[in-house]
Amino acid sequence: MLDVKHIREDFPILRRTVHGKPLVYLDNAATTQKPRQVIEALVGYYSRSNANIHRGIHALAEEATAAYEGARERTARFLHAPSERGIVFTRNATEAINLVAQSWGRANLKPGDEILLTEMEHHANLVPWQMVAKATGAQLAFIGISDDGRLKLEEYEQKLTRKTKLVAFTHMSNVLGTINPVADIAARARRMGALTLVDAAQSAPHLPLDVQALGCDVLVCSAHKMLGPTGVGVLYAKEELLERMDPFLGGGEMISDVWLTHATWNEIPWKFEAGTPNIADVIAFGVALDYLDRIGMPAIRAHERELTAYAMKRLQELKDITLYGPPAGEDRGGAISFNLEGLHPHDVGTALDHEGVAIRAGHHCAKPLMRRLGVAATARASVALYNTTEEIDRLIEAIDAARRFFQRSIKVAA
Ligand code: PMP
Repeated sequence: MLDVKHIREDFPILRRTVHGKPLVYLDNAATTQKPRQVIEALVGYYSRSNANIHRGIHALAEEATAAYEGARERTARFLHAPSERGIVFTRNATEAINLVAQSWGRANLKPGDEILLTEMEHHANLVPWQMVAKATGAQLAFIGISDDGRLKLEEYEQKLTRKTKLVAFTHMSNVLGTINPVADIAARARRMGALTLVDAAQSAPHLPLDVQALGCDVLVCSAHKMLGPTGVGVLYAKEELLERMDPFLGGGEMISDVWLTHATWNEIPWKFEAGTPNIADVIAFGVALDYLDRIGMPAIRAHERELTAYAMKRLQELKDITLYGPPAGEDRGGAISFNLEGLHPHDVGTALDHEGVAIRAGHHCAKPLMRRLGVAATARASVALYNTTEEIDRLIEAIDAARRFFQRSIKVAA
C-alpha cells in the first residue's frame, strides 16, 4: 500500500487551487507533476555545480560530469539495461524514435522491406516511420485492434514475415490504456529476424521495466512523464545495435577526431549526443528515478491498478458513457478515455476545469486510432501515484455537474 498522503506532500503543485477549488490533476498521461526533490535538484545544480560537462578540468565541470553520467547509470538501473553504454539522452521520446528511424532506418531499409506498426500508435511512433519509408521505399504494415482495444495478435502472426525488418509498437496506449505483451511480441519478431522498438512513454512511469526480460532491441521513454523535467528523453538500445548505427546529429562531443574534410565518431553512447546536452534536467531526471524506485514500481503499479478499477467502475455507473479500451485488469493502465453522449469532449474538459479537475480532451496525437474508434476526440483522465479515490469521486461529481449544466442549457436553447 502506498502512503499517498505522504507522497502528496512532496508535490507542491498539488496544494494549489484552480478556479477556487483544490486541484485534481488527472492529466498524467500528458505530463506528470514534479516532487520537490526534483525541483530542488534543478535549483541545487544551478546554485552549486553549473558547468559544461566532459571537457572541463576544473572542479565544477568534474562535479557536473559525474552527476550527468551518474544519471545515465541510474537510468540503466531503472530499465535493467546491461550497462549505461546503451543509454542515450535525447530531448524526448519523440526524438529518440526519430534518431532510430533516421540512423538505423535510412541505412538498413530498402524497397521490399516492411516496418510493422500498430493501429494504436501515438504520432511519435508513426510519422518518423512514414518519413523513413518514403525515403527508403520500405512499406508500412499495421497490426489492427479489437473492439475492446487490444492488439489482434493473430494478425501479428500473419503480418510478421521475412520482409519485416522492424516491429515498433507502444507498451501502453496513451488513449486506450492497453498494455501490450511486449515479451511475446519481441520473441516472435526475434524468431523472424526483425528488430523491436518499444515506445514506453506511457508505461515507464507506471510499471516495473526490464529491457532484458522484455527482450526488445530498443526502448524509448520521456522524463517529463516520469516525475522528471521536460527536455529529456531516453533511448535504450542494445549496444551492438548502437555500435552499428551512424550518428544522428553531428557536432561537438560526438566525435573522436575531426579534420577539415571528415571526422571519426566517439564511442557509444556519446556518439549520439552532439552538442551540450540538457545537463541540469538529466541530473534532475536521475533524482526522479530515485524517487520512483524508493517508492517502488510494483507498489506504484498496484496502487494505480486499484485506482483505475475504481475509476472505471464509477464511470461505468454514469448513464450515456462510452469507455474505450480493455476493462480494468492485468493488461490495462490508468489512461481512461471516454465520451458522454451528446457532449463534445472539449466541453467536458472545460466544464471539469471549472471544478478544478484537469483532464485532457482531443485526439491525443493518435488520429488514426480516433478514426478506428469512429470518433474525432475523447476525454481522457489518467492517474499517477499521487492520485486518490477521493479525487476520482471529484471527477465523477464534476462530470455529473457538467452533464446537468449542458442538459439544462440544451433545454433552455430548445
Ligand atoms: N508515445 C506515447 C504513447 C505518448 O503518449 C507520448 C506523449 N504523449 C509520446 C510517445 C511522445 O512523448 P514526447 O512528447 O515526450 O516525446
